Amino acid sequence: MPERIYNFSPGPATLPYPVLQEAASDIVNFHDKGIGLIELSHRSKEFMAVAEETELLIRELLQVPDNYKVLFLQGGASSQFFMIPMNLLGNGKKGTYINTGTWSKKAIKEAKLFGDIDVAYSSENATFNHVPNDEEYTVDSASEYLYFVSNNTIYGTQFARMPNADTMLVSDMSSDILSRPVDVSRFGIIFAGAQKNMGPAGVTVVIIRDDLLDRSPVDVPTMLRYKTHADKGSMFNTPPCFAIYCVGRVMNWLRKQGGIAAMETINRRKAEMLYKAIDSTDFFRGHAKKDSRSLMNITFNLPTPELEAQFISEAATAGFDGLKGHRSIGGCRASIYNAFPEEGVVKLVDFMADFAKKNG
Ligand SMILES: *Cc1c(COP(=O)(O)O)cnc(C)c1O
Repeated sequence: MPERIYNFSPGPATLPYPVLQEAASDIVNFHDKGIGLIELSHRSKEFMAVAEETELLIRELLQVPDNYKVLFLQGGASSQFFMIPMNLLGNGKKGTYINTGTWSKKAIKEAKLFGDIDVAYSSENATFNHVPNDEEYTVDSASEYLYFVSNNTIYGTQFARMPNADTMLVSDMSSDILSRPVDVSRFGIIFAGAQKNMGPAGVTVVIIRDDLLDRSPVDVPTMLRYKTHADKGSMFNTPPCFAIYCVGRVMNWLRKQGGIAAMETINRRKAEMLYKAIDSTDFFRGHAKKDSRSLMNITFNLPTPELEAQFISEAATAGFDGLKGHRSIGGCRASIYNAFPEEGVVKLVDFMADFAKKNG
């Protein structure tokens, strides 16, 4: 394995090295068939088997019940912001949203084009430094669904427990899908752009309950109806073949790590190391309130913006890439998804202690 930098990028993000190697080889010559992976027809038996395996592995890892479809769509996670309300609302129907950051705000804006939207809770006036617990909001019983972002990639907050509402849950899990077990049966729709925790950019995985497929208003265009893609096994048109293949390889890797429960243990260990480093000195300050802290994106500040810039620059020289916080909040952010190696966290923690000693 060549010398690799530690890539803390929020997404596209680091991938398991064995997956990169396998993909590099399969791109040139897929399973010794004399044809490259990205040259295969999406309707060839070779590619159909790839797509099927990817779906089966997702089903197995997340224990997706039989009455759910797993779809591979395009347009990014952002296209789900309008597809969900377009297909589930309309005709004055109501949707309830929890506003915990940039991604939920964007989803709320789109949803307002299609339905009567109730924002039951917002942490915006606290710079999105927390997510609510169940007692802090109520969901109108007339709502078709309760929408929330399970992990707020930019602000570094996460729902430690999923909302406990009677209403059907819909969740954007782009940045924490497969990082911990979830009870899929409580959700109507779970979706995630692959480029954080599942693979490369280019595919969005949508897990949708069967009965929702028939709810779309008649004026929804063919390509934007979930049923179109469900009926054709995500092959209504050309799917993002390479991205689907990579997701499959990442799922295979994840299974070899022991599955999602084993991964959660490792994720907790990695995050705890970083939060401990942040809490052990006044030099670093965590952005998220403690009970809302994300296991995936660790956001923190240094005493001044100048020190933050110096920290990010010296870290890059030392082989730690992608630590700059999102432009909307500044500061620093370490994204440590499933594929981020634990030893990279150990080394960053050492680097942080050293930096604080020299500059604190
Ligand atoms: C990155 C991200 C998105 C946007 O994903 P795209 O695929 O770029 O549209 C949406 N939601 C969350 C939580 C994200 O982290």
